[in-house]
Amino acid sequence: MFENLTVQPEDQILKLTGMFRADPRTDKIDLGVGVYRNAAGQTPVMRAIKKAEQQLWNSETTKAYTALAGDPAFHQAITDLLLGDAADPSRLAAVASVGGTGALRIAMELVRLANPQATVWVPSPTWPNHLPIARHVGLKLAEYRYFDSETGGVDFGAMMQDLGRVAPGDIVLLHGCCHNPTGANLTLPEWDSVAEIVTRQAAIPLIDIAYQGFGDGLQADAAGTRLIASRCPEALIASSCSKNFGIYRERTGLLLAVTPNTAMRDIAQGNMATLNRVNFSFPPDHGARLVTMVLTDPALRAEWTAELEEVRLSMLSLRESLADALRARTGSDRFGFLAQHRGMFSRLGATSEQVETLREKHGVYMVGDSRINIAGLNASSVPVLADAIAATGI
Ligand code: PMP
Repeated sequence: MFENLTVQPEDQILKLTGMFRADPRTDKIDLGVGVYRNAAGQTPVMRAIKKAEQQLWNSETTKAYTALAGDPAFHQAITDLLLGDAADPSRLAAVASVGGTGALRIAMELVRLANPQATVWVPSPTWPNHLPIARHVGLKLAEYRYFDSETGGVDFGAMMQDLGRVAPGDIVLLHGCCHNPTGANLTLPEWDSVAEIVTRQAAIPLIDIAYQGFGDGLQADAAGTRLIASRCPEALIASSCSKNFGIYRERTGLLLAVTPNTAMRDIAQGNMATLNRVNFSFPPDHGARLVTMVLTDPALRAEWTAELEEVRLSMLSLRESLADALRARTGSDRFGFLAQHRGMFSRLGATSEQVETLREKHGVYMVGDSRINIAGLNASSVPVLADAIAATGI
């Protein structure tokens, strides 16, 4: 049997991490993998999570299974955080998942069960894992234009043109906020037009939201998702707690389905629980429980919100200082988009040769498409990076 297997392509980002580790230079800069790092280069356990863990250790009396859909209190806590009162609860189905990736996987399997002919439309570019997940579950893929590499912003005209070609029943994948890898995001009026066009085409939006609170704040980052949930008759929302709660390895996420009515909600709910059952049975609970505790305890929630805001503002200030440093070195505002982008990532717009030069000559590691992790920077590495970018002639 095993002789039939072929070698899988190496994950480019993990490969980059290996190369970075092997580089003996002490002034090297890692802007690769998408993990938040503070000014000291660490990915800390958030204060409120640590406290919740202590409380849980004291109060937890069993580790017996929860439910196939996970804990209803977790569904409620994330639904409140994400949607506020934007969606009618009687139309919502929810299952806890194995991280945001697990939510995407269950979402795509649900689509395949409901409509195996559906095409999944993803932005160009998108988080690389979207493509193999859709292919692996046997769905067709198509890309819509999204990023304008000339301006560093969204090419909204092209995006709308492409969404005009989407067929009824197709899935339109949208990044809820902090687009990965580009950092370029839709404005609220643009979300409005997207809601209108997907509804007109009878397509179903699938929102991937993995960075709520990393962009313009917890409420602002959810605004597009809320608009879709309130306006579209059907939608899927895959939410990740990995980044904004700093619990990457706990694998915590939620899949929400906005359905047309309560009867369809019940059917969707049963199908989603069944998909959990055949994939891994019960979803992980530890991270979900911590998140629920943090969101429902006013003191823990205030502490979490404050720390998340520190994280957000530190990334914003790094963005501004990098844009300023590049303005000073290039004498132009070509990199002004860095201060406009939101979230952990921006795409610099360098060629693959320039990305290689940055790595080999300057010890600056970024993904081959020139995506940089802003949180990999600190006050002392910003000028070093700006010098390297200017010297490479990007
Ligand atoms: N979607 C996007 C856009 C992401 O960037 C990520 C994490 N890199 C995820 C989903 C999945 O996150 P996780 O499975 O770690 O919760």
